Parts: sequence; C-alpha cells; structure tokens
Amino acid sequence: MEYQTILNQIENEFKDSKVSGKVASYIPELAKVPADKFGMHLYDLNEGHFNFGDSNERFSIQSISKVFSLALAMKVIGDDLWNRVDVEPSGDPFNSLSSLENEGGIPRNPFINAGALVVADVLVSYFTNPKAALLTFLHEITGDPSICYDETVAASERSEGYRNYALVNYMKSFGNIENDVDDVLDFYFHQCSLAMSCKELAQAFIVFANEGTTLESEREILSAQQVKRINALMQTCGFYDEAGEFSFEVGLPGKSGVGGGIVAVHPDHYSVAVWSPPLNPKGNSALGMAALERLTTLTGYSIF
Ligand code: GLN
Repeated sequence: MEYQTILNQIENEFKDSKVSGKVASYIPELAKVPADKFGMHLYDLNEGHFNFGDSNERFSIQSISKVFSLALAMKVIGDDLWNRVDVEPSGDPFNSLSSLENEGGIPRNPFINAGALVVADVLVSYFTNPKAALLTFLHEITGDPSICYDETVAASERSEGYRNYALVNYMKSFGNIENDVDDVLDFYFHQCSLAMSCKELAQAFIVFANEGTTLESEREILSAQQVKRINALMQTCGFYDEAGEFSFEVGLPGKSGVGGGIVAVHPDHYSVAVWSPPLNPKGNSALGMAALERLTTLTGYSIF
C-alpha cells in the first residue's frame, strides 16, 4: 500500500482549507493551542511508519486516555467491571448526566465521562498509586518512558470541572463510586492531561491492531478477547453521539479527545492518529474526521 503517497495527498487536500470548528475552551489551557496544528501518523504492522505535518508534537490526549484506563481496568478486575458500567452506545454528548437518573447511576459505556469516571474509581481502588500505575502501563505499551502528565492542563481542567464533579457526586449517591470524589477526579483530570504525539499514540494503539501484543517488544499486553471488546466499544461508543457518523464516514474503531486528537485502528493492519484542534459541535476534531475519511476512501479499505 502506498501509504506515504496517500498521506501526502491528504495533507495537500486539507492544508489550506478553512477548517470549521472551534478549539475547546471549557478547559482554559486547551484554548491556547494554535488552531492550525495538523499532523497524522500511520503505523502499519508490516510496512512501518508514515506521517506528515505536526505528527511529532505532543498535545493533550483528553478522552483518548479513556481507552488506556479501560484496558488497565479490564486487566486488573476482569468481568466485574461490567457490573458497574454498561457497553451500550449512549447517543448523548460525552458529558451528559441525563441517562444516569433512569439507569440507577450505571453509565451507558466506558467512553462517556460518567463511564470513564467509574473506570477511574476502579483504578483508584485497586492501585495504591493509580497515577503511577497508568503511566507505567503506558510506558510498557509504547516503550517510551518519557510520556507524562501535563500538570498545568490537569489543574486547568480541575478549576472548571463542575460537570465532572457533578457526575461523580451523582454516581456516588447511587453507590457506584467507592472512593473520595476528589481522589477519583484527581486521577481522571490527570489521565486526560496526558501529553502524547500522533506518533506516540499510533505506537500505543498498534496493540489494538495486533491482537493485544506490542509490535517491537512482542509483549502480550491484552488478550485477543479483551482487544475485540475494546475495539467494539471504540466502534460503537468512541465518538459519543457521533459514533454512527464516524462509522459511516471512516469505518474503523476509533477514539477522539477534545484536544483535537483522534486515533483509529484497522485490526490486523494499522493504527493511525491525527491531530487538528478545532472541534465540531459534537466535540470531535472536524479536520481529523475528514482526514480519516479520506484515508479509508483512498486506500479502499476499512473494516466494512
Ligand atoms: N477531560 C475532558 C472532560 O472531561 C475530556 C472530554 C473529551 O475529550 N471528550 O470534559
């Protein structure tokens, strides 16, 4: 596959286009990121690395981190996790509180904020130092010990984190949060603040294209069944109330973040990460989605 030619074409098609969308500003630190950043990195199991643009610059991965915390929680508590969080698409925005009332404080899935906060609670219960445990997990997957939290972004989100405080408090009232609300949120704001580049994200997500095993060090991180489940959740829930649109346009499992990153996986083929900060009204990178649509159209391959 001529991946580099295709990536060059995508860069040329979009580099001068006027991107619609707005850089996230409800986390004050994110509003400072230049809107014209644009990069992409594709990591193919057989053919290696391809990229363009700002693919080596680190940015705030935000909700993409929910895939890592979910993977770690599935490893440590197994199927007990599904007693506390469901696996159904929500059709609601990522920060919605609405279905929790009727569903007894059980979030619809692990990728909406409510679900990720329950996953965070699981990790806070399990590990003495959950923030260190998540970093160790990431260092193991990527082989890169320099990946770390951005304390400024974490503090910035905490300063305006009223909705996430509401979600944790509300779920605690139903008995679905075991720990102190502040401890759960401290972990959650840190996981969202993780700073990674497109290259590093593609490197981390190759595990989901490779049945749970890292490519270079050949370490089995997750079982094939766990990977099947995580990819299925990315496909059905990774873009909240735009999961259908992402499937329709791109046709790959993926996960977005309000930092403007999107990661997608073509199982048994490649992982790909794209970064462009302006978001569409559903909170997903507008240009990122368009670029991935071009990728699966120009290669002629998706999972469908
Ligand atoms: N930290 C963000 C929040 O909780 C993550 C949201 C996202 O990336 N969709 O609002």
